[in-house]
Amino acid sequence: MVDSGRASWDVAAFSARSHSLLLAAEGGLESRDPATGELVATVGVSSIAEVDDGIARAGSAVRRSAWRNDGALRARVLFRWAARMREQSERLAELLTREQGKTIGQARGELASSISMIEYNAGLARAIYGRSLALKEGVHGVMLREPVGVVAAITPWNYPLNLTIRAVAPALAAGNAVLVKPASLTPAIVVAAMQLLADDELPADIAAVVVGPGGTVGDRMVTHPEIDMIAFTGDSTTGINVMKSAADGLKRVSLELGGKSPNIVFADADMEKALAGAENAIFSAAGQICTAGSRLLLERSIRDEFLERLVARADAMRVGDGLDPATEMGPLVSREQKRTVLDYIGIGRSEGTVLAGGTAVEDGGLEHGNFVRPTIVADLPSDSRLVAEEVFGPVLAVQTFETEEEAVEIANASEFGLACGLWTNDLNRTWRLGRAIESGTIWINTYHHFYGEMEVGGFKRSGIGRQQGVEGLLEFTETKHLNFDSNPTLW
Ligand code: NAD
Repeated sequence: MVDSGRASWDVAAFSARSHSLLLAAEGGLESRDPATGELVATVGVSSIAEVDDGIARAGSAVRRSAWRNDGALRARVLFRWAARMREQSERLAELLTREQGKTIGQARGELASSISMIEYNAGLARAIYGRSLALKEGVHGVMLREPVGVVAAITPWNYPLNLTIRAVAPALAAGNAVLVKPASLTPAIVVAAMQLLADDELPADIAAVVVGPGGTVGDRMVTHPEIDMIAFTGDSTTGINVMKSAADGLKRVSLELGGKSPNIVFADADMEKALAGAENAIFSAAGQICTAGSRLLLERSIRDEFLERLVARADAMRVGDGLDPATEMGPLVSREQKRTVLDYIGIGRSEGTVLAGGTAVEDGGLEHGNFVRPTIVADLPSDSRLVAEEVFGPVLAVQTFETEEEAVEIANASEFGLACGLWTNDLNRTWRLGRAIESGTIWINTYHHFYGEMEVGGFKRSGIGRQQGVEGLLEFTETKHLNFDSNPTLW
């Protein structure tokens, strides 16, 4: 592992424990700081043979160990994992910022919510109840919740830690074995966090990490006959392909996919709060959030004033290295992502009016990073690609509406349905729109607030299934009916 200047990381040796969960013989994948281009870590790439071996051993472990039947054991292991993560959280937050680019404040937030998610699921591990019912004289039915078996968790680069733990913690809490594959842009933070799961009470081979390209290592996991469930978070097109590949083995899938979320501001809203909310919705993590409020829908009567003030906020945002505590928006994760985002801005320039940003930042010591200014584009035709497609960058498309009905129509005119923001002081309207809008999450007078207790997921092209909360854990279980007949004769 090499590094040019700042603290270096050897993720394979990160754990104080000897047991490594990374199934890879040699280092190979270079992880680079998107703010500077510096090498952050080198992580081993798993061969297909290592993936196959890991899956076979996970299958054997989940069938033979006490893990699947002992909720208290699972709770102890998960609580200790959370404690080790908490002890190391500052180091992990720094690694997350260096590898992914988000600000150190956002990285600390991701650590805190990941730890909370582990603890929540650790508690649930002891509360996976079934049901029982007297069906007729002498006949009883018992519904059991059993682990699915071996789960493949395939995760993206934007919230690499949180989205991995959001799948791994409930899968383990429910008694499964898990193989994790992080995105190739952010493997180090996932390997470092997973190493901390190593525990004297964790049965061997119940959890492991494999690293490598989606097209080979990921595809092997999806098509392997001994994988029972795929928990996938990523792009909608990739997710659809994963589902097609999984169909041959009739595998269970949970898909958390893309979005183009509307953030709707009515004239009666608290404007100060809505402005802060609109800024947070699109520029937080440089817009690289599946739930980014990337379409701002403004009631026409407040459009000009709201935009003038939002543009001033965007222009004033401090873009820079995420490790600098003064930075408000970090870089995009890679050069490719920067190119993609600038191409979308080009569409905005030719089809609409760029009100803020619109360019890369290539001075002030930021020339080696992937920085793009917070960008706001108005006056776009409704069929513009910038209105319809997920950019995954700090680019806001502004639309206007006259009536509540029109707001709903514009909000729902999307192939996605992941999240939505509503800003209004009219309680009855919040209920009407809360029901009318096709979206897995609707934030009312807030945005981007997630709770481990509350399920998330997508309508339409944004996904299938739910994660987090009790339902999120139950996705990782199979339902079984035991039927008891104590009568002396059959019927
Ligand atoms: P991606 O689809 O390119 O990759 C996600 C993961 O899938 C990576 O680990 C990748 O290596 C793997 N992969 C790629 N091809 C594969 C294949 N054929 N078989 C198996 N695995 C394969 O997504 P990304 O660029 O890493 O992440 C950005 C996307 O993720 C955005 O669309 C964003 O909206 C979405 N996302 C959704 C949520 C959510 O909760 N709904 C959360 C975060 C990100």
